[in-house]
Amino acid sequence: MNWREYVRNVTPYVPGEQPKIDNLIKLNTNENPYSPSPVVKDELIKLAEDYDCLRRYPKPDCDALRDALSEYMGISPDKVFTGVGSDDVICTIFSTFFHSSLPVLFADITYSFYEVWAEYVGFPKELIPVKDDLSIDINDYRRENGGIVIANPNAPTGLALPLSKIEEILSFNKDSIVIVDEAYIDFGGESAVKLIDKYDNLIVTQTYSKSRNLAGLRIGMAFASPELISKIKAIKFSINSYTMNEPSLRLASAVLKDEKYFRECCEKVIKTREWSTEEFKKLGFEFPESSSNFVFVSHPKVNANDIYKALRERGILVRHFSIPRIDNYLRISIGTDDEMKALFSALNEIIK
Ligand code: PMP
Repeated sequence: MNWREYVRNVTPYVPGEQPKIDNLIKLNTNENPYSPSPVVKDELIKLAEDYDCLRRYPKPDCDALRDALSEYMGISPDKVFTGVGSDDVICTIFSTFFHSSLPVLFADITYSFYEVWAEYVGFPKELIPVKDDLSIDINDYRRENGGIVIANPNAPTGLALPLSKIEEILSFNKDSIVIVDEAYIDFGGESAVKLIDKYDNLIVTQTYSKSRNLAGLRIGMAFASPELISKIKAIKFSINSYTMNEPSLRLASAVLKDEKYFRECCEKVIKTREWSTEEFKKLGFEFPESSSNFVFVSHPKVNANDIYKALRERGILVRHFSIPRIDNYLRISIGTDDEMKALFSALNEIIK
């Protein structure tokens, strides 16, 4: 026997690069341009004083964070699951529920990790083409399936579906698990969390990485009926019970108390997005309306990859996907006002 015959080969997801370049303007991974809440710093100081807590395992159920999220969201603790970023949460949900021979449906233009997990977990998938304007037609999700995944707002398009459309998908598919990935929901769109009591097939995932300015903390969560949450937990506790570390759990619970800072940062990002879209228009860019912290732009005259390279030479990093249908687009995260001004001055030179 040769191990090469039995190794599990997968095509891994390629995240946006994190290069170490001085004065880089980093608009390629949809991180928040603002620092985390000052509450995080206070909590870190408290943690340093209580560092002996690290001698112990954290609570596998992440009780304190689960309870803090339950109180914050106004739902009972048995409807909350937490994980190491929403990537971990979504992958655990896929491993829990997607085992039928029917294909799991998701858009052809969406978060590309879904395809990677389909291969990793080993379930059939059907990529549903988005329309020419990159929007999702919910009528395409009226077909037999082994589950449905919708990013709302979608990435990398930034387009949001209204909650009424999400509800239609849920009503057509009462026997399937429907995951609504709300990584970007705080920048626009209406959350489906309020529907979890009405639809026992719905799982909503969210993250601290974007609107809570804490991508480095690695915290994600899912909200669903107690039955679904208990199934997800059973899988998690069958693989590795202690994936979340004590410092992250403490900081993530504490930051929920600073609602004011959270709202202010979201509003700043939205405001910058609004004037940025006007600037993109002036330069001749075309883009779907973003409800997110990024804009997905294409220029009718200048090739996206050429713009990507010219920006990179000027120390500005954006995301270009060499994927059919979207290879002439750039996904540009919303930075601070100053970062966006630098972007537009560079784009001015490049486009001319
Ligand atoms: N869903 C979508 C749509 C995303 O864009 C991302 C971030 N790349 C994630 C989930 C995962 O984010 P995280 O693991 O940082 O919570």
